[in-house]
Amino acid sequence: MREFLLVFAVIAVLLGLTAIKYRRQLMAMVGFARLLKEAGSASGDLRRKTATASEPNKLVDCDACGVWIPESKVIRKHRRNFCSEACTKA
Ligand SMILES: [Zn+2]
Repeated sequence: MREFLLVFAVIAVLLGLTAIKYRRQLMAMVGFARLLKEAGSASGDLRRKTATASEPNKLVDCDACGVWIPESKVIRKHRRNFCSEACTKA
């Protein structure tokens, strides 16, 4: 019975020590995860904001005549940007 109590006491101490260790790691992980979450949501918001703000207004210049046009209306041919079909032939 004494041996059992001794083993139980040793196991309890080991469990306590590992619990303290695990708690520290868990706290660190929780803190790290919180930081990552905040950073991720912040950058996500930034990305969303820049995406909606810059993409429709992004201007590209025509390689033939130099006119600035919205990227959505650009005609791409041979990796060059053109404002119209006439400029692609020029
Ligand atoms: Zn042009």
